Amino acid sequence: MQVILAEHAGFCFGVQKALDKVEEELQKHDHVSTYGPLIHNPQVVERLAQQGVQAIEDLHTANPTRVVIRSHGVGPEVYSCAEQRGFTVIDATCPFVKKVQKAAQRFTDQGYQVLVAGDREHPEVQGIVAWTGGKALVVANQKEAEALNLLGKVALIAQTTLKESTLREISQALHQKELQVEVENTICSATAKRQEAAQKLVEQVDVMVVIGGRNSSNTKKLAQICQEAGVPTYHIEKPEELDCHYFKNVQKAGVTAGASTPHWIIEEVVQRMSEWNQEENENKEIATEQEAAKVEEEVTSQDVEMEDMGSSFEETFKKYEEEHKKYEEGQLITGEVVKVSYDEVLIHVGGKSEGVIPRREIAPRVPENVEEIVKVGQKIPVIVLRAENEDGTLLLSRRRAIEKEKMVSLKEAKEREEILTGEVVAAVKGGLRVDIGIIGFVPASHVERGFVENLDQYVGQTLRMKIMEIDDQRNNAVLSQKVVLEEEYQKARKETWGEIEEHQKRRGTVRRLTDFGAFVDLGGVDGLLHISEMSWGRIKHPGDVLKEGDLIEVYVLKVDRDKEKVSLGLKQVLPNPWDTVAEKYPIGSIIEVTVVRLTTFGAFAELEPGVDGLIHISQLADRRVNKPEDVVAVGQQVTVKVLDIKEDERRISLSIRAVQDDQEQEEVQSYLDNQEG
Ligand code: SF4
Repeated sequence: MQVILAEHAGFCFGVQKALDKVEEELQKHDHVSTYGPLIHNPQVVERLAQQGVQAIEDLHTANPTRVVIRSHGVGPEVYSCAEQRGFTVIDATCPFVKKVQKAAQRFTDQGYQVLVAGDREHPEVQGIVAWTGGKALVVANQKEAEALNLLGKVALIAQTTLKESTLREISQALHQKELQVEVENTICSATAKRQEAAQKLVEQVDVMVVIGGRNSSNTKKLAQICQEAGVPTYHIEKPEELDCHYFKNVQKAGVTAGASTPHWIIEEVVQRMSEWNQEENENKEIATEQEAAKVEEEVTSQDVEMEDMGSSFEETFKKYEEEHKKYEEGQLITGEVVKVSYDEVLIHVGGKSEGVIPRREIAPRVPENVEEIVKVGQKIPVIVLRAENEDGTLLLSRRRAIEKEKMVSLKEAKEREEILTGEVVAAVKGGLRVDIGIIGFVPASHVERGFVENLDQYVGQTLRMKIMEIDDQRNNAVLSQKVVLEEEYQKARKETWGEIEEHQKRRGTVRRLTDFGAFVDLGGVDGLLHISEMSWGRIKHPGDVLKEGDLIEVYVLKVDRDKEKVSLGLKQVLPNPWDTVAEKYPIGSIIEVTVVRLTTFGAFAELEPGVDGLIHISQLADRRVNKPEDVVAVGQQVTVKVLDIKEDERRISLSIRAVQDDQEQEEVQSYLDNQEG
C-alpha cells in the first residue's frame, strides 16, 4: 500500500498564529486563557490544558485574566465585555477572518443586506454576523438561498472555510432573483488549497483518511469532498482511531488533514499506516518527500498570504523567525525534558523552541510507562523528525537517536561476526522482533536449525544471533540464530567424532523419542538408544524411562564411522541387579514374585526389574500340570522358593510346589509335635 499525503494538509497560517500567541503568553505569564477552545482539535486543546491553558466560555462570569481571542474571531460585543470586566485581550483572530468581519461591517454601513454563506452554528459566522449588528442573514446552501425573499441590494460574503462550490451555487441562486448582488469571495486560500489538494488526491487513491477534530468545520468539509468522490473515507481525530481493516486490499491510501490538525498527528498517522505497508520504507520516503514539498509550498503560500495582510505581519513574522532557531530534519540535538505525559514527552531544545516526542518514538520498545524512561529535567539526545518552522515545535525522536548510536556498534559487531543476545519482543508474520538495542528482525527460517511451527513460544526468550544484514539508513538489522546454532553444531560434531570410542560413557540430550528407542544428541552426533538397551527391566515404551530434553549418561555400544552411526546403551550405566541376586535371594528363601511370561515348559516370574526366574512346569504345583496356564496367569503374584541360582548364566530356578511341600511338612511336624506333647 502506498500512502500519499495531500499537497496541502494540516495547520493553516491562522491556526498556527493563534498557537504562537498562546505559546508566547505561556512563556511570559502564569495564567493564560482562551475564549472558547483555541482550535477545533481535542488533542491540541488537551495538550494546551496540560500546560495550564484554560478555555473560558463566558466572560461575564469568569475571573478577569489574560484572554486570547481565537482565530475564529468574535463580535465587537465580546471586546467590550472583556474590556469592561478587566480582561487583557490578546487578539489572535486570523487576519483572513478579520477581513470578512470588516467586509460585513462595510457592506452593512453601505446599506447592503449582508448574506453570510456558511454554518450559522459556527463561532466564526456568529462573530461575522455580530459585526453587522446582527443584521446579516446566514445562508447554508443553494436551497436556502432560493427560499430567500429579498429586495434591493445584497452582499454575499462567505465563511472562510466554506466549499467554493457552495458559494458558487448560492451566488447563482441569488443572481436568479431580481436583486443587485455583490459577491466578495472571502473563502480563505488555505482552506481552498486543502480542499483542492484533497479533491486531487481522492481521484488517485482507493481510500482516504481525513484527520481533524470532529467538530472542525473545515475537516468535515474535507471529509465531505472525499466522500462525494465515492471513495471510502474515514474521519479520525487521532492515530489510535486507525483500523487496519480500512486498508484491506488497498493499493493507494490518501491522507489529508484539517487546518486545525498539527503536523505531529499527521506524521503519526502516516507512520502507522506505513507500518501496515509491506513497502513501508519506500512509502515513508514518498510521504516524507510530499510532506517536505508541502511544507515548502505552505511557507511560500503563507508568504503570499502575509503580503496580503500588510507589513505589520511581515514584521511579526521576521521577528518570529529571528527568535526561533531552525533545525533540520535528521539533525541530532540534545534537549531537556520539560514534561512527561502518557502520550508524549515535551522537550526544550533551546531558545524558544520546543519539541514533542510521541510515545512510539521514546524508546526502541514502546514503553508501558513513559515516566520510567525519561524524567523531567533530564537531558537527552533526540533526532529531529519534522521541523515545524512556524512555531518552533519540533517532532522529535529519542528512539532514533538511540538507534543511530547503537548502529555504530552493531556495524562493528557484524564485521566481527559477533554473537549478540536479544530478547524476543514479538512474534510477527514471517519471524520474530528482537531487542538488540534497536528492534531487529529474525526471519522464521533463521530461528532454529530446523523448521519452527509456533513462533509465539519464543516471545520473552533470549536468542543468540549474528547479524546477517544491516541498514544504518533505516536503522534495521536482520539477524539469525540459526547461523549460530549451525556453527556450534558443526564444531561440536567434529569434536565428537574425533573423541568417541566404543565402551565410553558420554553425556547426551534426548532429542527425539520413537516407538523403538530414543535419539540422543552427543554433541553434533545423534546416537540411537534402542528400547532394549534402556533398562534391565521390561519397558513398554521409551517414554516410560525418558523424555525429550533429558540430559543423560549413556554407554557407547558401537561406533560405525563409515555409516556415521552410533549405538548407545543406558542400562549399562545403571547398577546390574544380577550382581546382587545371590545376596538378596539366597537359595531356600521364600519370596513373592510376579508371573511375566508363560511357556510350554513353565512360567517366568520377575523378582525385580531385570531379574527373572523360571518356575518349571514340574514346580508349578504339587500335582501333575498339563499346561502352565492351568495354574498361573501372567501378572499373578505367587510365593516361590528359590531352588537354585546360576549367576553366570543369569538363571534362577523357582518353585511353587516346594513352598507347598514345606507348608505341608510344617503342618505334619506341628501335628506330630502336638501328639507327643
Ligand atoms: S483556515 Fe484560513 S481563515 Fe481560517 S484560520 Fe486558517 S488561515 Fe485563517
